[in-house]
Amino acid sequence: MSADLEQIKVIGVLGAGQMGAGIAQVAATVGYQVLLADISLERSEQGKAGVEKQLTRSVVKERITEAQKTEILGRLTPVGGMEALSGADFVVEAATENEELKLKLFAQLDEYCAPHAILATNTSSIPITRIAAATTRPHKVIGMHFMNPVPVMKLVEVIKGLATDEETYELTEALAAKMGKTTVLARDMPGFIVNRILMPMINEAVTALYEGIGSREDIDAGMKLGTNQPMGPLTLADFIGLDTCLAIMEVLHEGMGDSKYRPCPLLKQYVDAGWMGRKSGRGFYEY
Ligand code: NAD
Repeated sequence: MSADLEQIKVIGVLGAGQMGAGIAQVAATVGYQVLLADISLERSEQGKAGVEKQLTRSVVKERITEAQKTEILGRLTPVGGMEALSGADFVVEAATENEELKLKLFAQLDEYCAPHAILATNTSSIPITRIAAATTRPHKVIGMHFMNPVPVMKLVEVIKGLATDEETYELTEALAAKMGKTTVLARDMPGFIVNRILMPMINEAVTALYEGIGSREDIDAGMKLGTNQPMGPLTLADFIGLDTCLAIMEVLHEGMGDSKYRPCPLLKQYVDAGWMGRKSGRGFYEY
């Protein structure tokens, strides 16, 4: 890979939720200065507090030392508004999965960030080409789709938009490798590779629950033990966030124009109730 990673010194992360905090943690761990932004300084600080908790766990398990934890946290700076990301050479956006929001955020990032900065999105399903078109630098916009939990999962799905240039792609690949990740390259189609296949399976598991085919425990145990998955699909949905699962199904449904991607009414109802999964304390299971 010929990309010169030396040009990347500061990484900006927009969105300090479960994914953004994880991305910030991994970037700081491999030595980058990281600016972590969210809607308020308080939320960004909450993101950093989550990282601190994870790192403390790693110290207890003797995977890192207390000194390393302090160093990593020292490289991670929570900031209030996204204006502060103007100092970043590479930004990964990991805000809520909502197209209107992401288009707005990318137009603003384009305005605030230096002309050389690459703007990557961690979107699970929104077309990169559409997000890129909200900026004046579509050649520097790319999909960099991490998996949850970011510090643990090895994969990053890289998605080129129609206008993404080779340099942007190579730098993104090189950055992912530096972060200890393995990449796959996906075409810019709804759901890319992983969610195109995973989400319809999760949606089908919700439909099985909706139709009373099995209890939540039996649906999960059936898939876990019967197909050798590390966790059942309903447990996984709770882990991902039911709002995120619904948003992805809606993108697949609309983007493919095929009724086979119709989100299950029960999934919609859970999201309406505020049952978002682990992050809200209740989803298909209680936490
Ligand atoms: P989350 O709900 O945990 O975090 C989203 C964060 O975005 C919140 O902290 C929220 O305050 C912030 N946000 C909302 N509006 C904002 C704004 N205007 N400016 C700045 N920040 C704003 O969600 P998440 O699970 O971390 O998902 C984030 C992104 O990552 C989504 O695009 C999602 O599709 C993608 N993703 C999620 C998973 C997963 O398993 N959860 C996996 C891969 C990719």
